[in-house]
Amino acid sequence: MKKFFLTLGACALIGISALSAQVKFEDYFLDKTMRFDFYHAGDANTEMYFFDEVIEEPYWAGNKNYLVEQRDMGNQFFKVIDKASGKVIYSRGYSTLFSEWIATPEAKIVAKAMPEGFTFPYPKNDVIVEIYTREYKTGKLIKKFSYEIDVDSYFVRKSKQDLEIFDVHYTGNPGKRVDIVLLSEGYTENEKEKFVKACQGFAEDFFSYSPYTENKDKFNIRAVWAPSKESGVSIPGENLWRNTALKAHYYTFDSERYQMIEDYQSILDVASNAPYDLIYILTNSQKYGGGGVYNFYGISAADIPGPSTRKTYSHEFGHQFVGLADEYVGGAEMSDIYFPNVEPWEPNITTLTNLESKDWKKLLGDAPIPTPVKQSAWELNPQNPKAEPFNPNKPWALGVYEGGGYLQHGVYRPWPNCMMNWFHKIDVYCPVCSKEIQNTIDLYTK
Ligand SMILES: [Zn+2]
Repeated sequence: MKKFFLTLGACALIGISALSAQVKFEDYFLDKTMRFDFYHAGDANTEMYFFDEVIEEPYWAGNKNYLVEQRDMGNQFFKVIDKASGKVIYSRGYSTLFSEWIATPEAKIVAKAMPEGFTFPYPKNDVIVEIYTREYKTGKLIKKFSYEIDVDSYFVRKSKQDLEIFDVHYTGNPGKRVDIVLLSEGYTENEKEKFVKACQGFAEDFFSYSPYTENKDKFNIRAVWAPSKESGVSIPGENLWRNTALKAHYYTFDSERYQMIEDYQSILDVASNAPYDLIYILTNSQKYGGGGVYNFYGISAADIPGPSTRKTYSHEFGHQFVGLADEYVGGAEMSDIYFPNVEPWEPNITTLTNLESKDWKKLLGDAPIPTPVKQSAWELNPQNPKAEPFNPNKPWALGVYEGGGYLQHGVYRPWPNCMMNWFHKIDVYCPVCSKEIQNTIDLYTK
Protein backbone atom coordinates (compact mmCIF):
# COMPACT_ATOMS: atom_id res chain seq x y z
CA MET A 1 0.00 0.00 0.00
CA LYS A 2 1.59 3.27 -1.10
CA LYS A 3 0.63 6.50 0.38
CA PHE A 4 0.64 10.14 -0.41
CA PHE A 5 0.64 12.34 2.62
CA LEU A 6 0.28 11.79 6.27
CA THR A 7 -0.13 13.29 9.59
CA LEU A 8 -0.70 11.52 12.73
CA GLY A 9 -3.61 11.01 14.88
CA ALA A 10 -4.01 10.17 18.42
CA CYS A 11 -6.25 11.40 21.02
CA ALA A 12 -7.38 13.91 23.49
CA LEU A 13 -9.23 13.80 26.78
CA ILE A 14 -6.26 14.81 28.85
CA GLY A 15 -4.91 17.17 31.30
CA ILE A 16 -3.43 20.34 30.05
CA SER A 17 -5.15 22.93 32.11
CA ALA A 18 -7.15 25.17 29.84
CA LEU A 19 -7.07 27.70 32.62
CA SER A 20 -3.32 28.26 32.87
CA ALA A 21 -2.75 31.96 32.84
CA GLN A 22 -0.56 33.55 30.20
CA VAL A 23 2.78 34.89 31.36
CA LYS A 24 4.35 38.23 30.50
CA PHE A 25 7.16 37.81 27.97
CA GLU A 26 9.39 40.49 29.51
CA ASP A 27 9.19 38.87 32.95
CA TYR A 28 10.74 35.60 31.86
CA PHE A 29 12.36 35.87 28.44
CA LEU A 30 14.99 37.64 26.37
CA ASP A 31 14.44 38.52 22.73
CA LYS A 32 16.28 35.54 21.25
CA THR A 33 15.76 31.79 20.92
CA MET A 34 16.83 28.77 22.94
CA ARG A 35 16.94 25.48 21.11
CA PHE A 36 16.86 22.17 22.94
CA ASP A 37 18.33 19.24 20.96
CA PHE A 38 17.91 15.56 21.81
CA TYR A 39 17.48 12.10 20.32
CA HIS A 40 14.07 10.46 20.18
CA ALA A 41 14.55 6.70 20.27
CA GLY A 42 12.76 3.41 20.74
CA ASP A 43 10.48 0.93 19.00
CA ALA A 44 6.80 -0.06 18.93
CA ASN A 45 6.82 -0.74 22.68
CA THR A 46 9.42 1.60 24.17
CA GLU A 47 10.08 5.29 23.74
CA MET A 48 13.06 7.21 25.10
CA TYR A 49 14.71 10.61 24.90
CA PHE A 50 18.46 11.31 25.16
CA PHE A 51 19.87 14.78 25.75
CA ASP A 52 22.09 16.27 23.04
CA GLU A 53 22.74 20.00 23.58
CA VAL A 54 21.34 23.47 24.24
CA ILE A 55 21.85 26.14 21.58
CA GLU A 56 21.39 29.91 21.51
CA GLU A 57 19.92 31.36 18.33
CA PRO A 58 19.60 35.07 17.56
CA TYR A 59 15.93 35.74 16.70
CA TRP A 60 12.62 35.19 18.43
CA ALA A 61 9.94 35.53 15.75
CA GLY A 62 7.11 34.01 17.74
CA ASN A 63 4.12 35.64 19.31
CA LYS A 64 4.85 37.16 22.74
CA ASN A 65 1.26 37.12 23.98
CA TYR A 66 0.50 33.44 23.58
CA LEU A 67 3.28 31.64 25.42
CA VAL A 68 1.46 28.90 27.32
CA GLU A 69 -0.51 26.54 25.04
CA GLN A 70 -4.20 26.34 25.91
CA ARG A 71 -5.08 23.63 23.40
CA ASP A 72 -4.46 19.92 23.67
CA MET A 73 -2.88 19.02 20.35
CA GLY A 74 0.00 16.99 18.92
CA ASN A 75 1.53 13.60 19.54
CA GLN A 76 4.17 15.27 21.69
CA PHE A 77 4.07 18.17 24.09
CA PHE A 78 6.78 20.15 25.84
CA LYS A 79 6.75 22.47 28.83
CA VAL A 80 9.34 25.01 29.93
CA ILE A 81 9.11 25.51 33.68
CA ASP A 82 10.68 28.36 35.62
CA LYS A 83 12.91 26.53 38.12
CA ALA A 84 12.53 29.03 40.97
CA SER A 85 8.73 29.29 40.95
CA GLY A 86 7.72 25.98 39.33
CA LYS A 87 5.51 27.91 36.94
CA VAL A 88 4.99 26.79 33.33
CA ILE A 89 6.21 29.75 31.26
CA TYR A 90 6.06 28.26 27.77
CA SER A 91 4.51 25.15 26.21
CA ARG A 92 3.61 23.74 22.81
CA GLY A 93 2.15 20.60 21.28
CA TYR A 94 3.86 19.13 18.23
CA SER A 95 4.28 15.88 16.34
CA THR A 96 7.30 14.14 14.89
CA LEU A 97 8.33 11.79 12.13
CA PHE A 98 9.51 9.41 14.83
CA SER A 99 6.03 9.21 16.36
CA GLU A 100 4.76 8.16 12.93
CA TRP A 101 7.55 5.63 12.55
CA ILE A 102 6.67 3.82 15.79
CA ALA A 103 3.29 2.97 14.22
CA THR A 104 4.93 1.26 11.20
CA PRO A 105 5.58 -2.50 10.90
CA GLU A 106 9.34 -1.84 11.00
CA ALA A 107 9.09 -0.55 14.58
CA LYS A 108 7.88 -3.97 15.69
CA ILE A 109 11.17 -5.58 14.72
CA VAL A 110 13.87 -2.95 15.24
CA ALA A 111 14.72 0.02 17.50
CA LYS A 112 15.78 3.34 16.01
CA ALA A 113 16.71 6.93 16.91
CA MET A 114 16.08 10.27 15.18
CA PRO A 115 17.68 13.65 16.00
CA GLU A 116 15.05 16.15 17.16
CA GLY A 117 14.81 19.50 18.88
CA PHE A 118 12.45 22.37 19.61
CA THR A 119 12.74 26.08 20.21
CA PHE A 120 11.32 28.55 22.70
CA PRO A 121 12.15 32.12 23.71
CA TYR A 122 15.43 32.39 25.63
CA PRO A 123 14.68 32.23 29.38
CA LYS A 124 16.23 34.82 31.69
CA ASN A 125 16.60 32.30 34.51
CA ASP A 126 17.18 28.56 34.86
CA VAL A 127 14.38 26.34 33.61
CA ILE A 128 13.27 22.72 33.53
CA VAL A 129 12.19 21.26 30.21
CA GLU A 130 9.68 18.39 30.19
CA ILE A 131 8.73 16.27 27.16
CA TYR A 132 5.47 14.32 26.95
CA THR A 133 4.37 11.68 24.43
CA ARG A 134 0.78 10.77 23.65
CA GLU A 135 -0.16 7.10 23.81
CA TYR A 136 -2.16 6.17 20.72
CA LYS A 137 -4.20 3.59 22.58
CA THR A 138 -5.42 5.88 25.35
CA GLY A 139 -4.88 9.37 23.93
CA LYS A 140 -3.09 10.33 27.14
CA LEU A 141 0.06 12.41 27.34
CA ILE A 142 2.77 10.66 29.37
CA LYS A 143 5.82 12.46 30.76
CA LYS A 144 8.94 10.86 29.27
CA PHE A 145 11.82 13.21 29.90
CA SER A 146 12.94 16.11 32.01
CA TYR A 147 16.11 18.22 31.91
CA GLU A 148 17.32 21.18 33.93
CA ILE A 149 18.92 24.01 31.95
CA ASP A 150 21.51 26.38 33.39
CA VAL A 151 20.91 29.35 31.10
CA ASP A 152 24.33 30.87 31.82
CA SER A 153 26.33 27.68 31.25
CA TYR A 154 29.22 28.08 28.82
CA PHE A 155 28.09 24.81 27.26
CA VAL A 156 25.15 26.62 25.68
CA ARG A 157 26.41 26.70 22.11
CA LYS A 158 26.10 29.96 20.17
CA SER A 159 24.84 29.07 16.71
CA LYS A 160 26.43 30.59 13.62
CA GLN A 161 24.31 32.17 10.91
CA ASP A 162 26.28 32.11 7.69
CA LEU A 163 23.69 31.39 4.99
CA GLU A 164 22.15 33.95 2.68
CA ILE A 165 18.51 34.85 3.34
CA PHE A 166 16.01 36.87 1.32
CA ASP A 167 12.46 38.17 1.69
CA VAL A 168 9.75 36.60 -0.43
CA HIS A 169 6.72 38.30 1.10
CA TYR A 170 7.23 40.79 3.90
CA THR A 171 4.37 42.58 5.64
CA GLY A 172 5.76 43.63 9.03
CA ASN A 173 6.60 42.82 12.66
CA PRO A 174 7.39 39.06 13.02
CA GLY A 175 5.86 39.01 16.52
CA LYS A 176 2.45 39.74 14.95
CA ARG A 177 2.80 37.63 11.82
CA VAL A 178 2.88 34.00 10.84
CA ASP A 179 6.51 33.73 9.73
CA ILE A 180 7.25 31.01 7.21
CA VAL A 181 10.84 30.21 6.31
CA LEU A 182 11.45 28.38 3.04
CA LEU A 183 14.55 26.19 2.83
CA SER A 184 16.21 25.02 -0.37
CA GLU A 185 16.90 21.31 -0.85
CA GLY A 186 18.53 19.70 -3.87
CA TYR A 187 19.44 22.97 -5.62
CA THR A 188 23.12 23.31 -6.59
CA GLU A 189 25.17 26.55 -6.46
CA ASN A 190 24.18 27.46 -10.01
CA GLU A 191 20.47 26.75 -9.50
CA LYS A 192 19.86 29.68 -7.19
CA GLU A 193 17.63 31.47 -9.66
CA LYS A 194 15.47 28.38 -9.93
CA PHE A 195 15.06 28.35 -6.13
CA VAL A 196 14.20 32.07 -6.02
CA LYS A 197 11.51 31.40 -8.63
CA ALA A 198 10.24 28.41 -6.65
CA CYS A 199 9.90 30.66 -3.56
CA GLN A 200 7.90 33.23 -5.50
CA GLY A 201 5.77 30.41 -6.87
CA PHE A 202 5.19 29.12 -3.34
CA ALA A 203 3.93 32.52 -2.16
CA GLU A 204 1.66 32.91 -5.16
CA ASP A 205 0.25 29.40 -4.86
CA PHE A 206 -0.07 29.46 -1.10
CA PHE A 207 -2.14 32.64 -1.09
CA SER A 208 -4.40 31.40 -3.88
CA TYR A 209 -6.47 29.31 -1.44
CA SER A 210 -8.96 30.68 1.04
CA PRO A 211 -8.66 31.47 3.94
CA TYR A 212 -4.98 32.27 3.24
CA THR A 213 -5.96 34.67 0.44
CA GLU A 214 -7.82 37.04 2.75
CA ASN A 215 -5.08 36.81 5.42
CA LYS A 216 -2.16 37.59 3.13
CA ASP A 217 -1.11 40.60 5.20
CA LYS A 218 -0.73 38.43 8.31
CA PHE A 219 2.13 36.38 6.84
CA ASN A 220 5.83 36.95 6.28
CA ILE A 221 7.73 34.58 4.02
CA ARG A 222 11.53 34.48 3.95
CA ALA A 223 13.91 32.01 2.36
CA VAL A 224 17.29 30.56 3.29
CA TRP A 225 19.63 29.65 0.46
CA ALA A 226 21.44 26.41 1.37
CA PRO A 227 22.94 24.99 -1.83
CA SER A 228 23.41 21.24 -2.29
CA LYS A 229 26.38 19.41 -3.85
CA GLU A 230 24.11 17.56 -6.27
CA SER A 231 20.88 18.50 -8.04
CA GLY A 232 17.57 16.77 -7.22
CA VAL A 233 16.71 14.58 -4.24
CA SER A 234 17.20 10.90 -3.43
CA ILE A 235 14.71 8.31 -4.69
CA PRO A 236 15.69 5.00 -3.05
CA GLY A 237 13.07 3.00 -4.99
CA GLU A 238 14.80 4.01 -8.22
CA ASN A 239 18.25 3.52 -6.72
CA LEU A 240 18.92 7.26 -7.09
CA TRP A 241 21.00 8.77 -4.27
CA ARG A 242 22.00 12.42 -4.28
CA ASN A 243 24.30 14.39 -2.01
CA THR A 244 22.00 17.17 -0.81
CA ALA A 245 22.05 19.70 2.03
CA LEU A 246 19.23 18.13 4.08
CA LYS A 247 19.19 14.53 2.77
CA ALA A 248 15.52 14.53 1.74
CA HIS A 249 14.30 11.31 0.17
CA TYR A 250 11.14 9.68 -1.14
CA TYR A 251 10.08 6.22 0.07
CA THR A 252 10.05 7.25 3.72
CA PHE A 253 8.67 4.22 5.61
CA ASP A 254 8.79 2.55 2.15
CA SER A 255 5.95 4.79 0.89
CA GLU A 256 6.90 6.04 -2.56
CA ARG A 257 5.34 9.51 -2.31
CA TYR A 258 6.39 10.19 1.24
CA GLN A 259 9.32 12.57 0.76
CA MET A 260 10.77 13.46 4.16
CA ILE A 261 13.97 14.25 6.08
CA GLU A 262 14.91 12.26 9.19
CA ASP A 263 17.51 14.63 10.65
CA TYR A 264 15.36 17.44 12.04
CA GLN A 265 18.37 19.09 13.69
CA SER A 266 19.93 19.72 10.28
CA ILE A 267 16.68 21.45 9.27
CA LEU A 268 16.75 23.60 12.42
CA ASP A 269 20.40 24.55 11.72
CA VAL A 270 19.50 25.94 8.30
CA ALA A 271 16.26 27.58 9.48
CA SER A 272 18.06 29.43 12.30
CA ASN A 273 19.48 31.83 9.72
CA ALA A 274 16.12 33.65 9.58
CA PRO A 275 13.38 34.58 12.06
CA TYR A 276 10.61 31.99 11.69
CA ASP A 277 7.57 30.26 13.19
CA LEU A 278 7.20 27.50 10.60
CA ILE A 279 9.59 25.70 8.28
CA TYR A 280 8.69 24.63 4.76
CA ILE A 281 11.24 22.90 2.54
CA LEU A 282 11.09 23.25 -1.25
CA THR A 283 12.77 20.38 -3.02
CA ASN A 284 14.18 20.53 -6.51
CA SER A 285 12.08 17.64 -7.80
CA GLN A 286 9.37 16.95 -10.34
CA LYS A 287 8.21 13.86 -8.55
CA TYR A 288 4.90 14.32 -6.75
CA GLY A 289 5.24 13.89 -3.01
CA GLY A 290 5.94 15.42 0.35
CA GLY A 291 4.65 15.56 3.88
CA GLY A 292 3.73 17.83 6.74
CA VAL A 293 3.94 17.18 10.48
CA TYR A 294 2.28 19.38 13.09
CA ASN A 295 4.57 22.11 14.46
CA PHE A 296 7.52 20.24 12.96
CA TYR A 297 8.04 20.94 9.25
CA GLY A 298 6.46 20.71 5.83
CA ILE A 299 8.16 19.62 2.63
CA SER A 300 7.23 18.98 -0.98
CA ALA A 301 8.47 18.90 -4.54
CA ALA A 302 8.54 22.43 -6.00
CA ASP A 303 8.62 21.48 -9.63
CA ILE A 304 5.68 19.13 -10.28
CA PRO A 305 4.04 19.76 -13.65
CA GLY A 306 0.38 20.89 -13.48
CA PRO A 307 -1.62 22.16 -10.49
CA SER A 308 -0.35 19.56 -8.00
CA THR A 309 2.53 21.67 -6.70
CA ARG A 310 0.29 24.42 -5.39
CA LYS A 311 -2.26 22.07 -3.88
CA THR A 312 0.47 20.10 -2.18
CA TYR A 313 1.79 23.26 -0.51
CA SER A 314 -1.59 24.06 0.89
CA HIS A 315 -2.40 20.51 1.98
CA GLU A 316 0.93 19.88 3.73
CA PHE A 317 0.82 23.29 5.36
CA GLY A 318 -2.59 22.33 6.79
CA HIS A 319 -0.93 19.42 8.62
CA GLN A 320 2.01 21.46 9.78
CA PHE A 321 0.35 24.71 10.80
CA VAL A 322 -3.08 23.66 12.04
CA GLY A 323 -2.63 19.95 12.84
CA LEU A 324 -5.33 18.97 10.35
CA ALA A 325 -5.61 15.23 9.71
CA ASP A 326 -5.82 13.54 6.34
CA GLU A 327 -9.51 13.08 5.56
CA TYR A 328 -8.89 10.34 2.99
CA VAL A 329 -9.16 6.59 3.27
CA GLY A 330 -6.19 4.28 2.68
CA GLY A 331 -2.74 5.20 1.53
CA ALA A 332 -0.80 4.99 4.80
CA GLU A 333 1.78 2.51 5.95
CA MET A 334 1.01 3.14 9.59
CA SER A 335 -1.40 1.14 11.62
CA ASP A 336 -2.55 1.45 15.22
CA ILE A 337 -2.93 5.22 15.20
CA TYR A 338 -6.66 5.80 15.57
CA PHE A 339 -8.54 3.68 18.09
CA PRO A 340 -12.36 3.45 18.31
CA ASN A 341 -12.69 4.71 21.87
CA VAL A 342 -10.20 7.53 21.64
CA GLU A 343 -11.12 10.93 20.17
CA PRO A 344 -8.38 12.10 17.75
CA TRP A 345 -6.81 15.43 18.77
CA GLU A 346 -6.97 16.64 15.17
CA PRO A 347 -9.88 19.07 14.71
CA ASN A 348 -11.21 17.66 11.40
CA ILE A 349 -11.71 13.96 12.15
CA THR A 350 -13.65 12.19 14.87
CA THR A 351 -14.27 8.68 16.15
CA LEU A 352 -17.56 10.03 17.63
CA THR A 353 -16.08 9.35 21.07
CA ASN A 354 -16.11 13.03 21.96
CA LEU A 355 -17.31 15.08 19.00
CA GLU A 356 -18.69 17.54 21.57
CA SER A 357 -15.11 18.62 22.32
CA LYS A 358 -14.70 19.96 18.78
CA ASP A 359 -15.78 23.24 17.13
CA TRP A 360 -17.10 21.06 14.31
CA LYS A 361 -20.05 20.05 16.53
CA LYS A 362 -21.06 23.69 16.92
CA LEU A 363 -21.06 24.17 13.15
CA LEU A 364 -23.10 21.05 12.46
CA GLY A 365 -26.68 22.18 12.84
CA ASP A 366 -29.11 19.29 12.70
CA ALA A 367 -27.21 17.04 10.27
CA PRO A 368 -27.66 13.38 11.19
CA ILE A 369 -24.65 11.79 12.94
CA PRO A 370 -23.26 9.89 11.15
CA THR A 371 -24.37 11.53 7.91
CA PRO A 372 -25.26 9.10 5.12
CA VAL A 373 -23.39 9.61 1.84
CA LYS A 374 -26.00 9.16 -0.85
CA GLN A 375 -24.98 11.47 -3.66
CA SER A 376 -22.69 10.89 -6.64
CA ALA A 377 -20.11 8.17 -7.18
CA TRP A 378 -17.51 10.83 -6.53
CA GLU A 379 -18.87 11.68 -3.13
CA LEU A 380 -18.79 8.02 -2.28
CA ASN A 381 -15.22 7.77 -3.48
CA PRO A 382 -13.44 11.01 -4.45
CA GLN A 383 -10.55 8.93 -5.83
CA ASN A 384 -12.81 7.37 -8.48
CA PRO A 385 -11.37 8.59 -11.82
CA LYS A 386 -14.88 8.87 -13.27
CA ALA A 387 -15.99 11.11 -10.45
CA GLU A 388 -17.24 14.57 -11.37
CA PRO A 389 -15.19 17.59 -10.26
CA PHE A 390 -16.34 19.57 -7.26
CA ASN A 391 -18.75 22.35 -8.05
CA PRO A 392 -18.24 25.09 -5.46
CA ASN A 393 -21.64 26.59 -6.33
CA LYS A 394 -23.44 23.49 -5.26
CA PRO A 395 -24.33 23.77 -1.57
CA TRP A 396 -22.61 21.08 0.41
CA ALA A 397 -23.96 19.79 3.63
CA LEU A 398 -21.54 19.79 6.50
CA GLY A 399 -21.91 16.46 8.22
CA VAL A 400 -20.08 13.58 9.83
CA TYR A 401 -19.21 11.21 6.96
CA GLU A 402 -17.69 7.84 7.64
CA GLY A 403 -14.14 7.28 6.35
CA GLY A 404 -11.07 9.38 7.17
CA GLY A 405 -7.69 9.22 8.86
CA TYR A 406 -6.76 6.43 6.39
CA LEU A 407 -9.57 4.22 7.72
CA GLN A 408 -12.74 3.14 5.95
CA HIS A 409 -14.65 2.63 9.17
CA GLY A 410 -14.73 4.15 12.62
CA VAL A 411 -13.24 7.55 11.69
CA TYR A 412 -15.42 10.38 10.29
CA ARG A 413 -14.80 13.55 8.24
CA PRO A 414 -16.79 16.82 7.81
CA TRP A 415 -17.33 16.86 4.03
CA PRO A 416 -17.31 14.09 1.43
CA ASN A 417 -14.25 15.82 -0.04
CA CYS A 418 -11.96 18.66 1.10
CA MET A 419 -8.43 19.93 0.41
CA MET A 420 -7.36 17.65 3.27
CA ASN A 421 -8.86 14.70 1.37
CA TRP A 422 -8.29 13.70 -2.25
CA PHE A 423 -7.47 17.24 -3.31
CA HIS A 424 -7.06 16.76 -7.05
CA LYS A 425 -10.72 17.40 -7.61
CA ILE A 426 -11.34 20.19 -5.18
CA ASP A 427 -10.08 23.72 -4.52
CA VAL A 428 -11.60 24.53 -1.15
CA TYR A 429 -11.37 23.51 2.47
CA CYS A 430 -14.42 22.20 4.27
CA PRO A 431 -15.95 24.64 6.82
CA VAL A 432 -14.25 22.82 9.72
CA CYS A 433 -10.76 23.04 8.19
CA SER A 434 -11.36 26.67 7.10
CA LYS A 435 -12.38 27.72 10.57
CA GLU A 436 -9.43 25.97 12.20
CA ILE A 437 -7.00 27.61 9.77
CA GLN A 438 -8.47 31.02 10.59
CA ASN A 439 -8.33 30.35 14.33
CA THR A 440 -4.67 29.35 14.08
CA ILE A 441 -3.78 32.47 12.07
CA ASP A 442 -5.51 34.57 14.77
CA LEU A 443 -3.55 32.81 17.50
CA TYR A 444 -0.21 33.60 15.85
CA THR A 445 -1.05 37.21 15.13
CA LYS A 446 -2.95 38.44 18.18
ZN1 LIG B 1 -11.56 19.46 5.80
